[in-house]
Amino acid sequence: MKILLASSEVYPFSKTGGLADMVGALGRALVKAGHEVIIVTPLYRGIQAKYPALKKVDWEFDLPLGWRRIKAGLWELKRRREATIYFVDQPGYFDRAGIYLENNLSYADNAERYIFFSKCVVNLARYLPWRPDVVHVHDWQVALVPVLMAHEKGAGWGNPPPACLTIHNLAYQGIFPGEAFELTDLPLEYFQPGAVEYFGMLNCLKGGIAYADLITTVSPRYAREICTEELGCGLDGLLRQRQDRLIGILNGVDYSEWNTNKNKHLPKAYTVGRLAGKQVNKLELQKQLGLPVSEAIPLFGTISRLAEQKGVDIQLGALAEMLNTNMQFVILGSGSPEYERGYRDLARRFPDKVSVTIGYDETLAHRIEAGCDFFLMPSRFEPCGLNQMYSLRYGTIPVVRATGGLDDSVVDWTQNAAQATGIKFFDYSARSLARAIRKSLVLYNQTELFKQCQKNAMKADFSWDKTVEEYLKAYQSIQGLK
Ligand code: ADP
Repeated sequence: MKILLASSEVYPFSKTGGLADMVGALGRALVKAGHEVIIVTPLYRGIQAKYPALKKVDWEFDLPLGWRRIKAGLWELKRRREATIYFVDQPGYFDRAGIYLENNLSYADNAERYIFFSKCVVNLARYLPWRPDVVHVHDWQVALVPVLMAHEKGAGWGNPPPACLTIHNLAYQGIFPGEAFELTDLPLEYFQPGAVEYFGMLNCLKGGIAYADLITTVSPRYAREICTEELGCGLDGLLRQRQDRLIGILNGVDYSEWNTNKNKHLPKAYTVGRLAGKQVNKLELQKQLGLPVSEAIPLFGTISRLAEQKGVDIQLGALAEMLNTNMQFVILGSGSPEYERGYRDLARRFPDKVSVTIGYDETLAHRIEAGCDFFLMPSRFEPCGLNQMYSLRYGTIPVVRATGGLDDSVVDWTQNAAQATGIKFFDYSARSLARAIRKSLVLYNQTELFKQCQKNAMKADFSWDKTVEEYLKAYQSIQGLK
């Protein structure tokens, strides 16, 4: 099958979160399964310098964008056993310090930037000599692609391939003032509640949900949750209408990146059969972060965007209580300044128990995953979540709120002690999280049980082979539709 993937971020070229990991790994897994894949993504600042093998493609975009026309170039990166990447080169839009924002402020022209990018994707899908059998777009930035394709079908594109939209996080919909609709150059009939209009505004994700042949999201539980008023972010009505075309597929983990055996980021390799090496990583991490170095003190960690979704408020509440016990906590993250301040205050209150690193640091992310005993993920909601799956592979027991992909990927100690891989809590409250941390401390002190849990966790398999099979089935299900 020929599959065209489109995403505003792709690991290792650009990344702000799980979206980049997923698209990069999906491309690789599809190629491994014998398919042809092109991933289209913007050429952000720094990519060209880092990847000198990029080659210019003989292709020029010259596309309408409202009352103007915008030009862009195209670069290609061919890699062995990997998807081919096409980078859309529009320096005015993409040669910037950030991807979506700078100094915590979103770029004012994000609608323009990603509507243009979406048009480039449609242009490639329609005119490339390499004809895709399916176009698979990810999140709001390219969610207008299925709408634009449907329109072009009526305007001379005889038989466009089916379009699949994956929602990685329904909370981000790409909502802009109604005037931005003009940039789509679509007829006004699309600016109505059954299409892209949302209370007088343009809603990119809504358009994709209305027009895609198939909608997927990144865990089965989240697929159910987004059809409810509580987690539907205002689109639950439309999602319920389209429920027959909505499925949840749990993301896979790229174990070639996230492993404890051959990993350049880790001080010491370890495996499920040789767990002792994990302790070395723990001691090294404590040393690196300036905490008292001790095997006996249970070490908790978090790596996260500091956003409301991630349960920062209940985490700060629970830790303020629990740090009076014998435990340590390390966090790596960045995001909202008030949350950053919250963690820094915590570190000031408990200087010998808490380490806070504000920023983005891949090496430290691996070291925290490997060095901690427990990984805290108290999300308010979590479409899939990758860190808990990385933790599992690293033998670091995830302590998670039972929502979305967290619920789908962790087996709770209380519910099933023999097969437990982690600890779950249910209420979204500091109290429930504190109780879960207390439970973790009990587990930590029962050495044999704790080891068993670690082993179960490390053996849990979330490899891409399984995930990719489900995507292929999904693609096949829409092939006959057109
Ligand atoms: P989300 O996509 O909602 O941010 P996920 O758990 O799905 O959450 O994916 C987050 C990804 O981003 C993981 O690969 C995680 O390791 C990484 N990540 C998040 N924050 C940081 C950070 N400050 N430094 C390094 N990696 C980070």
